[in-house]
This record gives sequence, structure tokens and C-alpha cells, in this order.
Amino acid sequence: MTTRRVNLNTESVDNYLKAIFAIGGQEEERVTSNALAERLGVAPASITNMLQKLAASSPPLVEYERHRGVRLSAAGRRRALEVLRHHRLLETFLYEVLEYPLEEVHDEAERLEHFISERFEERIAAKLGHPKFDPHGHCIPEMDGRMPKQVSRPLTDIEQDGKFLVDSVSDQDPLLLKQLKAHGITPGARLQVTSLSQEEFVLRAGNNSRALRLSRTLAGAVRIRSAD
Ligand SMILES: [Zn+2]
Repeated sequence: MTTRRVNLNTESVDNYLKAIFAIGGQEEERVTSNALAERLGVAPASITNMLQKLAASSPPLVEYERHRGVRLSAAGRRRALEVLRHHRLLETFLYEVLEYPLEEVHDEAERLEHFISERFEERIAAKLGHPKFDPHGHCIPEMDGRMPKQVSRPLTDIEQDGKFLVDSVSDQDPLLLKQLKAHGITPGARLQVTSLSQEEFVLRAGNNSRALRLSRTLAGAVRIRSAD
């Protein structure tokens, strides 16, 4: 048997593993190359190329079959969770200690997450009192890779008006995040949805007595849970 030496750039490997994890390759589910291409903003041909490399690395980081899509191997999942832990701890540190605006922490953490040492990670976690959530409301995986399942759904999934709690907001688009923040829609905020249509949601956020009209795009960046 010949061993293939595969030289892989850690940063792009991490980004692939994280993307597969984010779009559903967390369990037994497989992710299509097209979905991955869309998430990463790269051509499908380069996706195939990279997935073959990840599957051929030792240990394999993914299980990949051209026509069935891809899922993370145990080693790939471990790595994805570790990068996610770095990312979310960094976001929390930037937000709470360095006082970055919420909409800026994601991009900064994207740059730093690949490079911090285990020691640095431990120090940040200790300094922050071992936080369970990042400032977007997302669970921070534990040291051993455990991460509780978050019970939430997209605001755009609701079919009736009612009272809800903001569970988390997407970290993907700084502009949307800034708008949500300006409306008082941040993790933990109470929402009272008074009406909804194809185009928009009318609601009150927190103690604000003024009604807001939220477009579907904006509402799509918000996940909620029921307010008991
Ligand atoms: Zn982020």
C-alpha cells in the first residue's frame, strides 16, 4: 500500500469541517456538495477535490461518496467541535472583555480560531467563568466535545402570533445583526408577535411599547423558543 502524503492547509480544512457540521452533517445525515459549495462560496469542482483529500487524510476526517454526499468521521466531528469551541469562546471574549460590538465578533473570531493554543483556550474559558453560550446565544461545546442540543426554531417557522423568547441570532451577516440589535432583538429578549404575513412580522421586543415590522429576511436570522 502506498501512503499518500496530503498537504492540507489547516485553515481551509477547519472551515470545511465547520461548514459540514453547520449544515447538518452532525449526525448520520449527509450533506450534498452543492449545499457545501453554497455555504462556502466556492465552485463545486473545488469542493469535490477537497472532500477527496479530507477522506484520504489519516485519520479520515470525512466519509465521502460522490453521489451520496459527505458526513464527518468521528475525528472530523471532534475537530469541528474544537474549532467551534475556539470560535465561540473567542466571540465571548471579544464581546465581554474587549467590548467589541456584537456584529463584529464573528469575523474577528473567524480569523483567530485556527491559531489559538489549548492553553490560551483554557485561559479564556477560565477568565470568562466557563460560559455555556456565546453572545449570539449559541452553545459553546465543552472541552470534551459535548454540546447540549438547543431546542429552538426559526422565527419564520411560527404559524401563530404569541409570546416568545429570542434563543439566538445568526452570526453570519453583520448588517442584519446590527439591525436586530437596534430593534432590541438579542438573545434572551422577549418578543410578542401580534401579526404575521408572507412579507413581515409585526411584534414588540422587550419592554419597547412601539410595534416593529420585521421583514422575513431579518426574521430569518432569529431563532426563538416559547416563553413559558
Ligand atoms: Zn461566529
